[in-house]
Amino acid sequence: QLAAAGAALTSTDNHDAFVRAQRVLPGGVSSPVRAYGSVGGDPRFLASASGPWVTDVEGRDYADLVCSWGPALLGHAHPEVVAAVQEAASRGLSFGAPTVGEVELGEEIRRRVPAAERVRLVSTGTEATMTAVRLARGVTGRSLIIKFAGCYHGHVDSLLAEAGSGVATLALPGSAGVTEASAAETLVLPYNDLAAVEEAFTERGSEIAAVITEASPANMGVVPPQPGFNEGLRRITSAHGALMIMDEVLTGFRVGPSGWWGLENRLLLDEGAQPSSDTGAVYTPDLFTFGKVVGGGMPVAALGGPAAIMDQLAPLGPVYQAGTLSGNPVAVAAGLATLRLADDAVYARVDEVSSVLSTALGEALDAEGVPHAIQRAGSLFSAFFGPAAAAAGVRDYAQAQAQEGFRYKALFHAMLDAGVNLPPSVFEAWFVSAAHDDAAVNRILEALPLGARAAAA
Ligand code: PLP
Repeated sequence: QLAAAGAALTSTDNHDAFVRAQRVLPGGVSSPVRAYGSVGGDPRFLASASGPWVTDVEGRDYADLVCSWGPALLGHAHPEVVAAVQEAASRGLSFGAPTVGEVELGEEIRRRVPAAERVRLVSTGTEATMTAVRLARGVTGRSLIIKFAGCYHGHVDSLLAEAGSGVATLALPGSAGVTEASAAETLVLPYNDLAAVEEAFTERGSEIAAVITEASPANMGVVPPQPGFNEGLRRITSAHGALMIMDEVLTGFRVGPSGWWGLENRLLLDEGAQPSSDTGAVYTPDLFTFGKVVGGGMPVAALGGPAAIMDQLAPLGPVYQAGTLSGNPVAVAAGLATLRLADDAVYARVDEVSSVLSTALGEALDAEGVPHAIQRAGSLFSAFFGPAAAAAGVRDYAQAQAQEGFRYKALFHAMLDAGVNLPPSVFEAWFVSAAHDDAAVNRILEALPLGARAAAA
């Protein structure tokens, strides 16, 4: 029976798989962007993945620029990560009791981001941001949250308004099923607009529990913070007794060993900014959320911050949070193995591949006369299309939405036909891994001119 199931995985007609999927899974998928809604066509059903490659159920392989939407920093199925998972699984799948692995993962996170003095492990990025918001409300006794249009923080009711990622891909304003009461407790402001933040705090500062921001947004395409934006958020929240929540679910441990926070602080220090005497960093948020890479492809996410705040979580404090599978030993083994392997050489390779590919993408689009802007944040990059983006770049959600998104649809399918798996939405970042070797990079470099030609049409 097992052999039959295995055979079905690699010899299925992709279209048949999608038809069958739609009879049982809404839209044929377990998460919306996977359905190819904005690029059209049948989503590729994948059967396996190794290093920089993914293989579909018909046996076609693709150089992968999705990397499981971020987790696969080392590439797919890294042998040492798989071995760690197998070893952990052989000792038991889930205990519902503390394990030493959780302690080690917490220590590894704190080593990289010392301000995360205490770490709570959860299973998804959504849980991490949801818990951070609840904790901020519990600690401050206030209810309002500020989020930025185009930032995605998972499918938390109060954070879905004008969210990026799938909400942007499907052109939804938010989500049905979110109560007015919940939406009314979220103030949505334009990204990169500190004056709007100042104004909101001037009007309602005593009611605002927290500002939550993507460390460097990558769910409306890649839209880095303008110089001084994150520091400004820190200054304003501190002045008003509100917390700053930096969502590093996507950027954390991907754009560098200490995430966007580490990368940006290093840049600021290099530019001569003054470090604070207690942390050595130029700015530090109150709470961080992590996900994706921290689980190495398994369901682990986390939030972290100073003991004084984090100890308000149950069992020590009054803010409740729990999970049957939180800190699951098999998932933690994958995360720990991934972080331990993610050394300077890994980040250097990821940066190098990203630089080669983003430059080649820009050159290919230039050669076909396609107006565009390539925007980068560390190793994350994406393209925005149209003359407005080409002229001035994109710094907020309104500008990201105004681009010529139809060009991406054509580029996506040309690249897919040439054996490259891109994110099926213009609003997502392109992800590379340290396993992207010459063969994978060359496959992508050969496909880019075809993608650019299609985008020009
Ligand atoms: N926060 C950010 C910045 C994200 O990019 C995501 C997912 O893409 C999330 C939160 C939600 O994480 P998850 O999908 O694991 O719930």
